[in-house]
Amino acid sequence: MKNQFDEKNKKKFINEFCHHGVNEDLAERVYTSRLLGKNKELVLHGGGNTSVKSVTKDTHGEKHNVIFVKGSGSDLSSIKPKDFPAVKLKNLNKILQKKNVTDDEMVKYLRQNLIDTSSPNPSVETLVHSFINEKFVDHTHSNAILEITNRKDGYNICKKVFGNKIIIIPYVMPGFLLARKVSQLYKFNPQVQGMILYRHGIFSYGATAKESYDRMIKLVSLAENYLKSEKIKKIKKISIKKIRFKSSDIAPLIRGAISQNKNYILNFRTSRSLLSVINSLDAKKILSRGVVTPDHVIRTKPKYLVVNINDCKNLKDIEIKLKKEIQKYIKNYLKYFETYNESRDRNTLLDPIPQIIAIQNIGLFSVGKSLVQAIINGDIAEAAIKIIGNIEKRNTFTSIGMKNIFDVEYWSLEQAKIKKDNKPLSGKVTVVTGGTGVIGLATAKKFKDMGSEVIIIDINKKRIQAEKSKGNFDVYYCDVRKRNEYKKILNHLKNKYGGIDIVISNAGFAIQSEISTITDAELKKSFEINFFSHQIVASESVEVMKMQNKGGCLLFNISKQSVNPGLNFGAYGIPKSALLSLCRQYALEYGKLGIRSNGVNADRIESGLLTKEMIKKRAKSRNIHVKDYLKGNLLKKQVFAEDVADAFYNLSISEKTTAAILAVDGGNIEASMR
Ligand code: ZN
Repeated sequence: MKNQFDEKNKKKFINEFCHHGVNEDLAERVYTSRLLGKNKELVLHGGGNTSVKSVTKDTHGEKHNVIFVKGSGSDLSSIKPKDFPAVKLKNLNKILQKKNVTDDEMVKYLRQNLIDTSSPNPSVETLVHSFINEKFVDHTHSNAILEITNRKDGYNICKKVFGNKIIIIPYVMPGFLLARKVSQLYKFNPQVQGMILYRHGIFSYGATAKESYDRMIKLVSLAENYLKSEKIKKIKKISIKKIRFKSSDIAPLIRGAISQNKNYILNFRTSRSLLSVINSLDAKKILSRGVVTPDHVIRTKPKYLVVNINDCKNLKDIEIKLKKEIQKYIKNYLKYFETYNESRDRNTLLDPIPQIIAIQNIGLFSVGKSLVQAIINGDIAEAAIKIIGNIEKRNTFTSIGMKNIFDVEYWSLEQAKIKKDNKPLSGKVTVVTGGTGVIGLATAKKFKDMGSEVIIIDINKKRIQAEKSKGNFDVYYCDVRKRNEYKKILNHLKNKYGGIDIVISNAGFAIQSEISTITDAELKKSFEINFFSHQIVASESVEVMKMQNKGGCLLFNISKQSVNPGLNFGAYGIPKSALLSLCRQYALEYGKLGIRSNGVNADRIESGLLTKEMIKKRAKSRNIHVKDYLKGNLLKKQVFAEDVADAFYNLSISEKTTAAILAVDGGNIEASMR
């Protein structure tokens, strides 16, 4: 493993932080913490933790010996000084004299000793860090270390590789018990450079950040070199059939099967190295043996679901098989819960659905309440599968046992690490066409605020670029007049999100002309964007919704022109009238599948479509002043894009409403639906 420590960089880093008043020890701590965090072979997504013992002042100016330790929930790769709460060291040793300390007591105790009570909770491993008498302490879940410890003969190999350089701590649940175990063993071996936490990870420590970091790299390199020297056996594979199904065809089937009661995002990935393990003959067995480090269980659950679809002739067969396998998985999970929960009846059952689903010959699907969570879960599973595969090539993968896994999975301090997103649209996927326009963006923002994943598509390359650089939404170029282009986007979304739930068909184009003199070409062009593109978007989206078999929601941006034509605006209004019928037709034909279809008739909203120039013209055609045009409604109030966004949102959550048209025009009796 390459040592990334660079004295020059460290100095630059420290100078920058110290310039902003950060304690020098802490600045040094941040520098090597990030080095560790950026190395994916050592640390993944919030894993690992680091600390430094130093001196700091409280608000009264009084000095204290403290430990700056990683706050729970932060990520080492991007950690900042403020993510290290300072805990007074003086009292921490006292807690060791107690026989047992509950999780709540431990958290309370640590919080009571914080210098700044507004700090995040100190890491669950704070006590372990505090009992090691070295200034800097680093802890990672290094892949190479796990490949050595998580096998049948792991203990002997550790001895062989590290000799007396380290202490091996038998597996103990993280938290108070581990801290006590460490303090006992450390006392007799303070001269060693590190500790292997059996089937969990590794600690290194030193007088400087560099020393502790160097030792981590050295110890991990010893493990890597040993692994390289080992003989490798071939893993037996299942038959690699020519795959007739694509991941994008399977994704909505899985998403449907797992999201009948709740909504989930399903993210797909595949690679040769992933398939080399997933396709092994024993995949079902080895991917059910448990986690490679206890931390992973809250992300991946104890077991992965492995499904072989080689005997499926069509997508229907796959759907039936998936449903059966998922039901079986849930049943087994409930059994696991009942078995290990006996003595702790205060636990409530966690979501029993699989978080990681491996389809042999296809790849890996990871589940999450949001895309970010699904990707994190997938990254962790991918790393674990690689570790398990490497162990199986050498020996037999062994985990910490289901009881230990259960205790960590149902540990309140672990559960607290997962962000609970419970907004009305959490786990849903919304596509907005014409998404970079004024109404499109306001709508995208509204749906994102309400918890949905939002994808915006548009044909305006300049605005797409602008939105991409802001990074608020997943943005794509797509001409919705072209069926193949929209299909391609949907296939991508099926792989990335598992499918779609809400489609806001919003793209439009206004054109003004007297109806008898408009050219055929112009009228056809208007129909293409204001009617046919909606049909393309709706029909293709409904196909995905049908595969998911969990309902869906179509929302059309129609226009009051559909029921209340304006002078010289026929080329726009007539296709919009057809669009209103289209909206109702979808409601009629797909209601039985739980797919709702509703529309919004908005009017006089200043946007890219109704520009200042256009407003002038419209006001003139109605013979009124421009200033009266925008407020020319029953309420005498100007209507904004955000009002339209609210209407779309309200229709999206009105589960019993379909074939409805909601007017957002400040009141216009001529345009009211009758
Ligand atoms: Zn750990």
